[in-house]
Amino acid sequence: MIQVLDHGYVELHDCMGDDLRIVNMARQSFGQKSVSVGPKEEGLIGFLMKHRHGTPFEGPVFTFNVKCPIFVAREWMRHRIGSFNEYSGRYSKMIEEFYIPATEQVRRQKGKAGEYTFTPCSEEVASAAKEIIAYNNAHAWRHYESLLDLGVAKEVARMVLPVNLYTQFTWVVNLRSLFNFIALRSNDRAMWEIRQYSLQIEELIQELVPVAYQAFVDNGRIAP
Ligand SMILES: Cc1cc2nc3c(=O)[nH]c(=O)nc-3n(C[C@H](O)[C@H](O)[C@H](O)COP(=O)(O)OP(=O)(O)OC[C@H]3O[C@@H](n4cnc5c(N)ncnc54)[C@H](O)[C@@H]3O)c2cc1C
Repeated sequence: MIQVLDHGYVELHDCMGDDLRIVNMARQSFGQKSVSVGPKEEGLIGFLMKHRHGTPFEGPVFTFNVKCPIFVAREWMRHRIGSFNEYSGRYSKMIEEFYIPATEQVRRQKGKAGEYTFTPCSEEVASAAKEIIAYNNAHAWRHYESLLDLGVAKEVARMVLPVNLYTQFTWVVNLRSLFNFIALRSNDRAMWEIRQYSLQIEELIQELVPVAYQAFVDNGRIAP
């Protein structure tokens, strides 16, 4: 389990398939099979990536357990090619854990929409901002509990909770879709918080599919 942000994590639950799986998905075209990954197989993976023969990369499938703020999950779940199961605020009481950015991540934005650059606020502003966020968290949680105490259903009471509350989900995703996620979310243009998760996932898969990962990097980090 790799810690991300103040209370979050990403964990590789399991993984099905590897570089050899990609090779043999492709070799199916010729009714052939490799038993290990050598220079010929590395060349084939490079060729598949370069020419965007994407389906063999759908062979390896990964399951991740993720804990992140709701606003990160909201962006994450825009990635439709994959499966999600999330902690339910209808069935379970939410957990009192809120994301508060580190001082250097209380950012200021400059420029036009879509081309923003972000710089840290002064320490004074950051500390005031963090106080406001913490105050809001405490109040929202108190209101949530008051609604529950009144007998209001969890699915209604949760309406007062802010999007920096942590949620948890399981994500099942194939490598092709994962490359697309990494291409978009490890990128400097992605929001800093989701980027931290993407960068950790990127580290994890480098070890599991080293040849495919290298081919992805060599081809300009474009998903096949
Ligand atoms: C920096 C950044 C800023 C963003 N800003 C906004 C924003 O302001 N507003 C907003 O709404 N979203 C925004 N998004 C989300 C973005 O538009 C995508 O929804 C998200 O990144 C998922 O990408 P995807 O569709 O490629 O992934 P997936 O949904 O996982 O799809 C993977 C691939 O499958 C194919 N595919 C999937 N579904 C279809 C389909 N229905 N038709 C055809 N092909 C399909 C596409 O090739 C796609 O690339 C932003 C994303 C980033 C990274």
